[in-house]
Amino acid sequence: MFGQMMQQPLLISSLLVHAERHHGEQQIVSRRVEGDIHRYTYRDLASRARRMAKALAALGVTPGQRVGTLAWNGYRHMELYYAVSGSGAVLHTVNPRLHPDQIAYIADHAEDQVIFFDMTFLPLIQAVAGRTKAVKHYVAMTDRAHLPADHKVPGLLCYEDLLDAQDDRYEWPSFDENTASSLCYTSGTTGNPKGVLYSHRSTVLHTMAGALPDALGCSAADVVLPVVPMFHVNSWGIVYIAPMTGAKLVLPGAGLDGKSLYELFESEGVTLSAGVPTVWQGLLAYVDANGLKFSTMRRSAIGGSACPPAMIRRFLEVYGVRVIHAWGMTEMSPIGTAASFKSKHPGQTLDERLAVMSTQGRALYGVDMKIVDESGNELPWDGKASGDLLVRGPWIIASYFKNEGGDPLRDGWFPTGDVAKIDADGYMIITDRSKDVIKSGGEWIGSIDLENIAMAHPAVAMAACVAAFHPKWDERPLLVVVKKPGVEVTREELLAFYDGKIAKWWTPDDVVFVDAIPLGATGKMQKNKLRDSLKDYKLPTA
Ligand code: ADP
Repeated sequence: MFGQMMQQPLLISSLLVHAERHHGEQQIVSRRVEGDIHRYTYRDLASRARRMAKALAALGVTPGQRVGTLAWNGYRHMELYYAVSGSGAVLHTVNPRLHPDQIAYIADHAEDQVIFFDMTFLPLIQAVAGRTKAVKHYVAMTDRAHLPADHKVPGLLCYEDLLDAQDDRYEWPSFDENTASSLCYTSGTTGNPKGVLYSHRSTVLHTMAGALPDALGCSAADVVLPVVPMFHVNSWGIVYIAPMTGAKLVLPGAGLDGKSLYELFESEGVTLSAGVPTVWQGLLAYVDANGLKFSTMRRSAIGGSACPPAMIRRFLEVYGVRVIHAWGMTEMSPIGTAASFKSKHPGQTLDERLAVMSTQGRALYGVDMKIVDESGNELPWDGKASGDLLVRGPWIIASYFKNEGGDPLRDGWFPTGDVAKIDADGYMIITDRSKDVIKSGGEWIGSIDLENIAMAHPAVAMAACVAAFHPKWDERPLLVVVKKPGVEVTREELLAFYDGKIAKWWTPDDVVFVDAIPLGATGKMQKNKLRDSLKDYKLPTA
């Protein structure tokens, strides 16, 4: 027997229709690449997205075709999110921090018909334009007045001209909820990047779960500023969560330095934000150096790489900001877990609660996870056993775009490439990425633990722990440190800092001081590059 309820496909356009109808007056504030602040409402967004949907059809874009963007977080990018996916085409958000060779490869692999770009990326587009085969049109996301006359992109179109040619009388089409909506490539640290193709259904389900109180906890009373870029897995879903919940949305554009972000947090009354740890380091450094406080910010989702517990403590104790430590992947839309409390935690001590907040968190409904040993046997949730982390669920990848790399699943589960333990309450702790694990005498040493300890030292601005060759142990941990400006610290002081905090044999064998640690396109430490740059390094213990 079937239920007798309405059949309505879960479509991305429904989020915008809801936003326009039920909180059309709510604001979207954007810092434009021109530097000024732009303000409009969800009603304006909906109207302009409809006009853009018509403009796309006029350019010849048909359902299923891919449309690329190279853009910051801004209102025009939002319009494309809804115009492209809503009309049945596929939005391909390209990470502009990739190398031009990789961008050209990705644009052709995705067969992007049109590429929209912010003016910041004109030089990049000029470098790429002659080399892509698929792209038929390039569109500058600006108005005529800001379009330089001497650009070198043949046939370049102007975003506002395209909109001016259309009215907003347009009905969003209805189609199967399993239709592809958007495409994101993984960073491709090994080999060529692979595409993850989301559907309308996976996106809408992820949006609902991501907004829940134990995930981002986003409501109509929030003012949310995603620092995480819209080209980094749909800014972790915030581009959809904000219109669904009715939160005011603040989009920082290219201004991702501490000062620009802080000013926007304060002037717009931001309550909730999200970003990778390295971004918050910049913001906190600015706030610290200028003796400032956050007057409205209450919660901040941090993920993408492990958030050092010292940062979680600092946010809470000094600034009254609750960090929501979250874990996920491009292949998971991206949110998998979030470190929210259970009913027993509020009565616990600050240290106990900080320990919970420092885990990668509990699985959201919709994400099932398990840890397995090398033979695939499931390991206990005792907070001690660690193994390969596997996941499954309706917003988790089944296969890569164009089936690149073959079937990625193991018995219906997606192997994340992360090594983790899970405690009895279901809190998961990532100890490492499997390719970053340090194997000393056959035993694993988790580099994240070692980095987190180093990050708690007052002289350390950034720390990475990598495996260095050792003739007896195969690999031993080597700590690579960037010092805070004007602060001195010795190798011996840093190594002594580990005393009593971990098993003695986990202590790094040496410390190397560097000016900077290479960061990838999404702001994560690139340990493969770091290992390459240290390949001639010899441990003093070797
Ligand atoms: P990429 O593989 O390009 O870095 P993702 O952004 O999809 O792309 O990265 C996913 C990976 O990032 C995860 O598999 C995990 O290794 C790491 N990661 C994400 N969030 C966290 C976190 N909170 N703690 C530790 N590692 C994390």
